[in-house]
Amino acid sequence: MSMDGYQVCTRCVMDNSDPGITFDENGVCSSCTRYVEVRELSGYRKGESEKELERTARVMKEKSKDLEYDCILGISGGVDSAYMLLVAHELGLRVLAVHVDSGWNSEMAVRNIEKMCQKLDVQLHTYVMDWPTMKELQRAYMLSGVANLDVPQDHLFCAAIYEMARKYKVKYILNGSNIATEGAAPPFTMQHTYRDTWHLNSIYKKHGRGKSLKKYPRLSLWDAWMGIPGVTKINLLNYVPYSKQEAMAQLTKEFGWEYYGGKHFESRFTKYFQSVYLPMKFGYDKRKSHLSCLVLNGEMTREEALEELSQPPYPTQQQAEDEEYILKKLDLTADEWQRILHAPPTPDDSYASQDKLFALAKKILGMRGLDKMKKDRYTVK
Ligand SMILES: [Zn+2]
Repeated sequence: MSMDGYQVCTRCVMDNSDPGITFDENGVCSSCTRYVEVRELSGYRKGESEKELERTARVMKEKSKDLEYDCILGISGGVDSAYMLLVAHELGLRVLAVHVDSGWNSEMAVRNIEKMCQKLDVQLHTYVMDWPTMKELQRAYMLSGVANLDVPQDHLFCAAIYEMARKYKVKYILNGSNIATEGAAPPFTMQHTYRDTWHLNSIYKKHGRGKSLKKYPRLSLWDAWMGIPGVTKINLLNYVPYSKQEAMAQLTKEFGWEYYGGKHFESRFTKYFQSVYLPMKFGYDKRKSHLSCLVLNGEMTREEALEELSQPPYPTQQQAEDEEYILKKLDLTADEWQRILHAPPTPDDSYASQDKLFALAKKILGMRGLDKMKKDRYTVK
C-alpha cells in the first residue's frame, strides 16, 4: 500500500476504489482469487467441456422436439451474446433470438444483430419497450444517486426474456455470462442487484413523476431469484475456450460485425454511466473489473491493462455530447445533474430491498440449501 492508502492488486488491476475488495499478504486481491477458484471449479476444460456441450445440446433438442424452438437467447449486439449465437447455431440448435430495444441502442449494435441473424437464418424478435415508461424510470434512477443506474435496462432485459420464454414455452435460456471474460468478480460491490423489484419500485415511488409502471415488465420474487420453474439457464460460453479477441475477429470476418469500443458500449446510456457517472460520483472505474478478467484470461498483460486505464475511457468531447443527449432525452437540466453528480453517493439501503428477506431465507434454509437450489437451474439433466 502506498503512503496515501492506495493499493492495486499485484496480479490483476483491481484496486481499493472498491471498498468490498481485500488483499492478501502478497498483495493479491480477493476479486481475482475468487475468479481463479471459480474458473477451476466450473470453467472450460479441454476435452471434457466439449463432451458436456454435445450432451447438453442433444438433451435440449430431445426435450424441445415438440416445441418451435430449442432455446431462447437475448442478443444485445455486444460480442458475448453474438458469439453465443454463433456457437448455438453451430450446435444445430433452433434459436429464438430476442433483442430488447430499451431506447438506447446504437445503430451499430442493431446492424450487428441484423447482419448475423440474416446470414444464419435465425428468427429474430425485437422487444420494444414503451419509451415514455422507460424514460420515467430511468429519470427516477438518475435522481436517486444510487450506484447502479443500469438497473432499469438490466431488469428489463431479464424480464423481457422471461416473458418471451413463457410465451414460446421454451425450456432453455442461453445466457452470455461467462467465467473466462467476466469471472465471478462482482462488478462493483456497491452496486445493488438489478433483480430486486422492491428496490426498483421504491426508487420509482420516491423520484418518479407518478406515471404507472404497468408497461414495464417486472420480475416476481420467485423469477428473480429462482428463475422460471421448468426452464434451465445455460451459460453456453463456459463450455467453449472463449476469448474475446478471437471471438471479435471471427465475428468481423464472417459477418462484417463492427466493434463499438468497450464493454457494454453498445448502449449509449451504459457507456456514459460507466465512464463518467461511476468514476465521478463513486470514484470507481468499471474498466478495472473488465480488464482484470482479460488479464487473467491471458488476453492482455497487466501492463497493457494499466496503460489502458491511464487513458480516459473515451474522448471527453464525446462524453460531453453524450451527457447533453442523455439529459435532454430524460428531461433533466444541466444544473440538476451537476448537483446530483457532486452530491455524496446515496447508499442502497436508503430504499426498500429484498436483502433482509434473503438474509432470513438463508438463515432458515441454510446457505447450502439455497446454493443447491440455484445450482440446479444451471444443470441440464
Ligand atoms: Zn486481483
